[in-house]
Amino acid sequence: EVVRGDAVRLRQILINLIGNALKFTEKGEIFFQLSLVAKNPDYSVLHFIVRDTGIGISREAQAHIFDAFSQVDGSMARRHEGSGLGLAISRELVEAMGGTIGVNSEPGTGSVFWFTVCLKHAESVPEIVQQNDVQRDQFKLGLAGQVETLHVLLAEDNIINQELGRIMLESLGCQVDVVENGIEAVEAVFNKEYDLIFMDCQMPELDGYEATRAIRQRESDSGGRRVLIVALTAHAMEGDREQCLAAGMDDYASKPFTVHQLHDVIKRWHGGMDESEAGQVSE
Ligand code: ADP
Repeated sequence: EVVRGDAVRLRQILINLIGNALKFTEKGEIFFQLSLVAKNPDYSVLHFIVRDTGIGISREAQAHIFDAFSQVDGSMARRHEGSGLGLAISRELVEAMGGTIGVNSEPGTGSVFWFTVCLKHAESVPEIVQQNDVQRDQFKLGLAGQVETLHVLLAEDNIINQELGRIMLESLGCQVDVVENGIEAVEAVFNKEYDLIFMDCQMPELDGYEATRAIRQRESDSGGRRVLIVALTAHAMEGDREQCLAAGMDDYASKPFTVHQLHDVIKRWHGGMDESEAGQVSE
């Protein structure tokens, strides 16, 4: 059966919920379930569950957890980093899709995050979706025709984004190394020459801005080659772009990133870009 919806936004919600589940669970399991709860002539109601066996959330905290900038335990959140915006954004997206989102949790036992969305029925899978595989192969050819294998470093703490990013970049013909915080990113750059770094802005230990500053400092001290750094940021917030530039980054892509976006960035910088366009940050 085929339904019609906003796949990018749906993925954003799932990345957030599953990412949180992985972040706050040290042992046990993460369980995911999708079921159909109602079907009308026009639309279906889908029910998603993400259950973990992690630290859990107190009853008081559950009452505010979908509010913007809400983090339950400052020390825990600092260790893991995060903005406290993910669940607030997820709630907005779920409600915009005609659904609701909620949590049941027991401290020390785990949490169950669930949400519903209403999606219209579609007659068939749109051609554009069917073409995705073909397009991916075309991307690969497109890049391979113009550049040597690019050595790319992906600095990203979210496990799902690490995997997605690696798969997407490899499908574009890149050779990919993944690190999970700013300190590892700085070390990696000192040990190997990269053509391009995708740098998550919010990471534990050392964030993307600080890591970029450290890399730029080292480059200017040693007179070494300037590596291209592209920021990955989850929240397209006012001032983000300026902050990225000020830290010494060259370009900017918002999360959740897609293979098209990564392809565009690589094309822009390594695919024979006009000099006059260099240095401009994409909106
Ligand atoms: P953040 O970017 O800080 O993760 P979220 O809005 O996604 O922002 O989450 C807000 C807070 O809710 C987290 O900082 C954490 O304290 C708590 N939280 C979210 N998901 C879980 C979970 N699965 N288990 C325990 N705590 C969670």
